[in-house]
Amino acid sequence: MEKCPCSSGLSYEICCQPLHKGAFAENALQLMRARYAAYALNLPAYIIKTTHPASLQYCDDQKEWTEQISHFSKTFLFNRLEVLSFKEKEKVATVVFIAHMSQDGQDATFTEKSYFEKFKDRWLYRSGRLFEGYIPNLITTEQVNILPLAYYDDPILKKKAEPIRMITEDIKKLIEEMQETMDACNGIGLAAPQVHHSIRLFIIREPINKHADKDKIEWGDIKVFINPKISSASKKTWKASEGCLSIPNIYADVERSQEIMVKYTNIAGKIIKERFSGWEARIILHENDHIDGVLFIDRLPQEEVEKLTPFLENLKKRIHNSFLL
Ligand SMILES: [Zn+2]
Ligand SMILES: [Zn+2]
Repeated sequence: MEKCPCSSGLSYEICCQPLHKGAFAENALQLMRARYAAYALNLPAYIIKTTHPASLQYCDDQKEWTEQISHFSKTFLFNRLEVLSFKEKEKVATVVFIAHMSQDGQDATFTEKSYFEKFKDRWLYRSGRLFEGYIPNLITTEQVNILPLAYYDDPILKKKAEPIRMITEDIKKLIEEMQETMDACNGIGLAAPQVHHSIRLFIIREPINKHADKDKIEWGDIKVFINPKISSASKKTWKASEGCLSIPNIYADVERSQEIMVKYTNIAGKIIKERFSGWEARIILHENDHIDGVLFIDRLPQEEVEKLTPFLENLKKRIHNSFLL
């Protein structure tokens, strides 16, 4: 009787093998353990089957994806799994764990906070934040605050959102949850309709340093925009690649104003008029579009849309119809 690679101490036959053979995970923790065991045993099909269709890791080329997973399995030695915490709500869950790993005799341990989402009554892996090394104190004490996202083709993304009349405790809680959701997906902006609330609210991460290259910007605290209005936008525009958490893995160059003036209410209820430029302005314009029911792909010239159409159709199919059926 071989011990299960997920470090449960049980034999593989009664621990993770039934899941690898098709049994559903009862909860996200069981799924996480079975995924670790699947990596250790080089079972790419299980990883693919248990990845959320909107996960950034999801790859349409299953052959290439299989090879990638297999390569990872063969490159590393899976020494031990240590679970630090597990929290679950109806549709979302987090598992914090340490994967004790090595590669060519060198330590390759990492700590991860994984997010899981229920999809058609089945737990699936959504995303993870990786931290190099052994971080046993990474246990976050807060509740699971992640919200399920609305994806491409969801009618809420096409609706003009309603103004917020009062900043209630519920709104404040929603903002906290939006922040956690945005962070879970490594996003830099998120609008309320993207988490199924059709109200005029969005958050962005504020850049600490200004840089022409988005990947070189350091992102700081979040900034909250309630009932925002773009009061003016420069005629001077620029193009840069945008993506969207609601349209995972699809990117396109979008033309936006270089500089904007925004009037908005902050979380303290104060009305502010502020000027933004560059990436910050771009993110604000992208998020502001969301509360007007506009997506970045709606801003593209027709020929660009045509190029993206097969990818969008595929995404729609994956997320709304045939997946897992
Ligand atoms: Zn196991
Ligand atoms: Zn977006």
